[in-house]
Amino acid sequence: MPLLEGKTGIVFGVANKRSIAWAIAQALAREGMRLAFTYQGERLKANVEELCAAMPDSLILPCDVTVDAEVESVFREVGEKFGRLDALVHSVAFAPREDLENDFVNTSREGFKIAHDISAYSLVALTRAALPLFEQSGGGAVLAMTYYGAEKAVEGYNLMGVAKASLEASVRYLAANLGPKNVRVNAISAGPVNTLAARGIKGFTGMLKHHAERAPLRRNVELEEIGNAALFLLSSMSAAITGEVMFVDGGYNIIGL
Ligand code: NAD
Repeated sequence: MPLLEGKTGIVFGVANKRSIAWAIAQALAREGMRLAFTYQGERLKANVEELCAAMPDSLILPCDVTVDAEVESVFREVGEKFGRLDALVHSVAFAPREDLENDFVNTSREGFKIAHDISAYSLVALTRAALPLFEQSGGGAVLAMTYYGAEKAVEGYNLMGVAKASLEASVRYLAANLGPKNVRVNAISAGPVNTLAARGIKGFTGMLKHHAERAPLRRNVELEEIGNAALFLLSSMSAAITGEVMFVDGGYNIIGL
């Protein structure tokens, strides 16, 4: 029997076929999970609809994670259609380009707020909104996407590194808070992958090359490998794991000199 037969999930963050969220969705769907997808703004709607055409029982809804009314409406609709929820994928991040490109010391107050609102606070807001539906399932699993720049200063990652540090701390506090409700919260810290969001990072191509040369596995990670790790963290295979940040980076993070 497929691992996730009869289970339901919601995926935030599909922009196109290169999105990490899409790789995760494919792994979950392969194991039988019924999925809802959200897209940010009309310009991404057609992409998501086209990708999901092969999943006829999926649900596709608009959601800008900074708009409380949209978050509410998404979970209302998922409640009406699915009646319960087992998994939530948070694969969303944004920082204004000038704040990523500037010297970190010049980060603007507004840019700082935007980056933290979209990339970190949204995990708290979405998890809270999912709770009544997790309760219908007797618990749930939440997964966020992060990067090594949360722990170490990575050239060019700047403001996003600070927002990811906040995201990772939020994973731990949510896990501690919601464990008694059988809701698990984890993150994957992925090695660099060439996606739409990654192109906003100055020097990203150099980052890919450096990573492939230095990582113990001597290569970059594949989207499918991130999807499979996500499948583990969102299934009962990881039932005793919560509050963790799991690296899927070919071992890059273990290297000193
Ligand atoms: P992506 O561009 O495909 O996905 C980013 C998503 O964030 C998009 O779907 C975008 O629509 C969404 N988003 C941005 N602002 C939003 C808002 N206000 N409301 C709703 N959605 C919003 O790029 P990706 O690389 O797949 O990024 C997914 C996650 O993975 C991000 O958290 C990113 O930081 C993280 N990550 C990426 C890499 C990498 O190298 N690509 C490495 C580690 C972690």
